[in-house]
Order: sequence, then structure tokens, then C-alpha cells
Amino acid sequence: MRPDILNPIFAEIDALKGVGSALARPLERLGLRRAVDVAFHLPTGMVERKLTDSLDMADAGRIIGITLTATDYRASGSARAPFRVHAVDGRGNAVSLVYFGRNSGWPRKLLPLGEPRFVSGKLESYGDALQMVHPDHVVPPEEAATIPARESIYGLSDGLTNNRMRDLAAQALARAPDLPEWIEPSLMARKDWPAWREALARAHADPADAMARERLAYDEIFAGQLALMLVRQAGRRRRGVPIAGDGRLRAMLKLPFAPTGAQRRAMGEIEGDMAQATPMLRLLQGDVGSGKTLVALMALLNAVEAGAQGAMLAPTEILARQHYETLRKMASGLPVEIAILTGRDKGKAREATLMGLADGGIDILVGTHAIFQEAVRYRKLGLAVIDEQHRFGVAQRMMLADKAERAPHLLVMTATPIPRTLTLTYYGEMDVSRLDEMPPGRQPIQTLVMASTRLDEVVDALARHVSAGGQAYWVCPLVEESETSDQAAAEARAEALKMRFGDRVGLVHGRMKGPDKDAAMAAFAANRTQILVATTVIEVGVDVPNASLIIIEGADRFGLAQLHQLRGRVGRGDKPSVCLLLRGNALGETARARLALMRESNDGFRIAEEDLRLRGAGEILGTRQSGEAELRLATPEHVSALIDAARDDARLLIDRDGGLASPRGQAARTCLYLFEKDAAVTLLRGG
Ligand code: ADP
Ligand code: MG
Repeated sequence: MRPDILNPIFAEIDALKGVGSALARPLERLGLRRAVDVAFHLPTGMVERKLTDSLDMADAGRIIGITLTATDYRASGSARAPFRVHAVDGRGNAVSLVYFGRNSGWPRKLLPLGEPRFVSGKLESYGDALQMVHPDHVVPPEEAATIPARESIYGLSDGLTNNRMRDLAAQALARAPDLPEWIEPSLMARKDWPAWREALARAHADPADAMARERLAYDEIFAGQLALMLVRQAGRRRRGVPIAGDGRLRAMLKLPFAPTGAQRRAMGEIEGDMAQATPMLRLLQGDVGSGKTLVALMALLNAVEAGAQGAMLAPTEILARQHYETLRKMASGLPVEIAILTGRDKGKAREATLMGLADGGIDILVGTHAIFQEAVRYRKLGLAVIDEQHRFGVAQRMMLADKAERAPHLLVMTATPIPRTLTLTYYGEMDVSRLDEMPPGRQPIQTLVMASTRLDEVVDALARHVSAGGQAYWVCPLVEESETSDQAAAEARAEALKMRFGDRVGLVHGRMKGPDKDAAMAAFAANRTQILVATTVIEVGVDVPNASLIIIEGADRFGLAQLHQLRGRVGRGDKPSVCLLLRGNALGETARARLALMRESNDGFRIAEEDLRLRGAGEILGTRQSGEAELRLATPEHVSALIDAARDDARLLIDRDGGLASPRGQAARTCLYLFEKDAAVTLLRGG
């Protein structure tokens, strides 16, 4: 239970004065639902207000503060035209204060004729006259001192003004309690950080206050590390099941190739971990096409040989289906029951799968998040494999832990070479196996960058490729992060290509119904369609070896790691492959450099590092999949600079006081609640 002291700041946002239905939407768009969200919505900049006693054309464009006296009102005939208040400064210089779309009673009341008022706002030139549209502040002269000379600027959305935002922030701050200190005293002293509440107030008052911001960032990183460690500690307490298969199923596999040295090494490491009573927590990192699926299958079979079950979680429906097919194909002829479960499976089929899991009839389950849902009961879950998945935070891990008497072993697979600091942020300390060796015989991928104005040439090249028996992906750009517009772009492109290529063109996008998606993927995999127009739903994992050309429209709008993932859809067969990056016309310096890097490098590590540098952590981990993993206060720079200290601090605290019962331990609990790691707190004895 969240401590009472935090209740005021966790109040719903409409508890703040002035938040009515009109503001609900704009606030929601910014993700501001409670006072605490507002408190953590830190300003991004600052305005300096020039205090003056004389209106001056030279100040046009600046925010000024000045005492003015209204001389007359100019009401307009039409409702659309603005209401104007003419005013003068102490020397008789004139300015017109402009109010749109309001009842004129309001400006009349604010600015009574003949009475001086302190007015602040942005001065503009209007022909050779001066005007100020909707002054930010109008107060009696004796209250002028209440208008700050410097004012924080917030991220806003339509319908939300900075004034309003500032007011909400002040209200949220007023609700922020003094909290007991959770940071290690020597670290506090060394960093000279302010206490939590003061840090929050300072970060709002001055966005350039690096020390205050750093403290808040540290709190967030610390809460994350502490939560991960508590999950780990609880896992250890529960212990895992040592699993040692006898190899009989793995010996029956008929593979068309021999595992690479790197695959063999990873399999050995995983086997070693699974044999322990401490649950495995291992990251399998391997560039696109390095053969992670085979390693996963071996681990799953190891579990089945030992009489346990295995589960494999994929981030999308398409990938889940594909893994299911792949695993079934690889394991054909083996006495192993493999099933699939996604949100789409309903009714009788779902019931049958649930039964099979509960009575052990099913050995391996592949699926989306549905496989860890409440109703899913396993007879004996020994291993969970998480594929291409960056959202697997503390809460999910606990759901998984709930699925078995003993904590299951966990293998997380990723193609995105996540830098160490990020791995730590999202997974905590994990052991890592790297597939640093590609399967032999891989054909190189040639990457070309072309202006999208040369679309006709691109389509001709596509025609030659297809008539020579090849297959190709055509990826449409992300339009404004909105699925609907992605879909429209993909549909339009598919229509255009159909004019020339007829029913050789297939289409797949995220908004399609499940069975239609499957059908489109299956048709392409079976070479019944030769051109697959797609959105980024094909980003990860899709494996059609005969496809050796990929065309990516609007390539400059994608992240580098994402382009690398997409490019990894080709180069999987025995033919040399081509990746065509189509770019917009007016590209900036950075955009050019980024595409050039794609052309030159096929090294996922280098590309990911560059991407992190250029775009920040949110991008690499996919902000579109926002959720638990998102950091609100800490920047990637904060993470790099502070994570080691936060981890050490968290570990020290847990070593000394595993139940978080001491005063500092109690303070740390408050920190966990503040960052909504409630799930982790429930792991403590006596919650
Ligand atoms: P990823 O690591 O991107 O998930 P996959 O597991 O999909 O890679 O493997 C990519 C392709 O390489 C698949 O077609 C797979 O069958 C093949 N493959 C995997 N291991 C080997 C190997 N040792 N030798 C040859 N081909 C392999
Ligand atoms: Mg894969």
C-alpha cells in the first residue's frame, strides 16, 4: 500500500484547481493524469522578462513587463474580430492589447480605463504600431513583484497554455511532501544534492539547475535498480528448478546445418545456468541473422527432456506465428507437443491449449503476452524465452514468476545490441551470451541510398528483380507515429504497385485482422506473392530466405537500429542481397551522415551506438512501446553517469536491510512507490 504521505501528490489531476473537462484532453495527450505526473513534467526552457518603463519598437519580439494605462476600448463589429484595448506607458507611447474570441467584459475588467496595470507579454510590431496579443499577466502595479522576471517554459499541447501549465506545476509542487532521505548519506554529501522536495522545486524554477535535475534522475534510476534487485532477491528466495536434460530429444534433431561455434558456446552457457537451482537470468545477444532461434530451441528441448515445460514470448502476433512454424518444422519427428497461444485464440481452441498446459500435454508454448496472463496455468514451467522484447520489466517478470511454484529460468534474446548501461536499466544484472559469429555462407547485403524522386528507376529495378525469380519487401515509412497513416501509406503504395505487378503484390500492416496478416505472410513465404508491401510490422524476426531485395521508403525517418533490423530481413538466403534506402530531398547534415553510416556499416553494434548517441535511449528501446521501461526524469547521459552508483547503493541497502525495515529502508520504499514500483514492494515480507 502506498504510504499516506504520497496521497496528495498521487491525486487525480482534476483535484488540481482549474482542471475541467476542457483541459482533460490536452493534459491526457501529455500523459498527465495525476498531480505526480505534473510534478515530473519538468520545464524545458526559460524566458527572461525584460522589465521596462518605456515601450520601444526595438523590443518587438521580446517578452516585456511594463506598467500601462488603458485609454479606450475598440470593440469590433463581428464576433470573429478581436477586442482591442488601447493603452499607453508613462511617456504616452501607445500599444494595443489584443483579445481574441472572448467576452469583452473580461479585458474591460482586467484593464479599467484610466487605471495603471502591470502588464506582461510578448511585444509585437504591427505595421508601425505596437501590439501585445493576450498578455500573459495583468495585475495591479503593487503586485508587479509577484510576476517573476524569469519563467519556466513547459512542453505543451493544443489547448494548454504555459501560464496554465505553470499554475498546475505550482499546485502539484504544493502537494509534494517532504520525504525522508533514501540516498546514501555519503553520496548525498559528495554530490551536494538537495533533498527531494527542494530538488523538485528547483528543477521547476530553473530548468538549467543541473544539480537538482541530477538528483531527481538519480532517484528514478535508483528506484529501477532497487526494484530489479528485489525481484532478483525474491527469485533467489523461491529458488528455481535445476534442469538437466539428457540430450535424447536434441540428438533426434535433423538440422540441415551444423551450429556455429558461437551458438555452441551459448548453448553450453545456458545449459550450465539451467542446471543450477538459482534461476537463470541470461541475455542472448546476437545480430540479426546470427541464429538465435536454434539456441532457443535447444534450451527449450533441454527443459522438455527434464520433464519441464518451456514458453517462448514474441512481441508480435506475426513473430509468434513464425516462431511456432519454425520450431515445429525444426522439431518435426520429435515426440514434443508445441502449441501457440495469442490474444486471437479464443473459444474451444484456447480452452484446449489451457488444458494441455495445465495437464502437461503441451511441452512448449509459443505466443504473445497472452501466455503469461492470469488464466494460463502451467503444470511445470521450467524455462521462459523472451524474444526481441524490450518491455519485459519488473511487473511482467513477476507475472511470469507466478506461473510456477519455483521461479522459471529466463532467457531474453535480442538483436539490438543494447549498451551495458541500458541493459542494466531495464533488465538489471544479467549474464550475457553473445553470438558474435554469423552462420557460414551468408551473402553480403549491399546498401544503396537514393533520392525518392527516382522512384521510377526503383520500380524498374524491382521489376527486373522479380522477373529474375526474386522476391522483395517494400517498407513504407512511419507517418507521424500514427498507425492509421502508416496504414494509408502502405495501402496507397500497394495499390500503385498492383497497377504494374498485379496480384504478385501482397500487403501487411499492423491494423490488419490477424488471419489476413497470416495469409499475407504465408503467401509471401510460399512465393505466391513476390512483393510484400509492409509497415514496420516486419521489423523483427521475419524470415523468408528467398527475399533478397528490400526497399525502404522515407529511410531518413527511421532510427538507425530500426533500419538495421529491417535490412536484416534480406541476406538470409544463398543470393547476394540489396537494401535500397529511399530518402527525402532536403536532408540535413545529420540525416545524411546517418544514412551514410548505414551504407558503410553492417555492424549492429556500431550502428546501435551511433543511434544511441544521435537519438537517445528511448528510441533504441522503442518509445512507441512505452510503458514501465520508460524513464521520465533521467536522460541517457544521466543513466550512463549514475547507474553504477545507483546499483551499488541499491545493493548495499539490500545487503544490509533486505526487508527494507530500517529508517533508510522505509525511505527507499517511499522512493519505490513514488516511481510506481509497487509490485516490487509487495515482494518484501510484510509488503
Ligand atoms: P536471428 O538471430 O535473427 O533470430 P534466426 O534464428 O532467424 O536468426 O536465423 C537466421 C537464419 O539462419 C535462419 O534461416 C536459420 O535457419 C539459419 N541458421 C541458423 N543457424 C545456422 C547455422 N549454424 N548455419 C547455417 N544457417 C543457420
Ligand atoms: Mg529472431
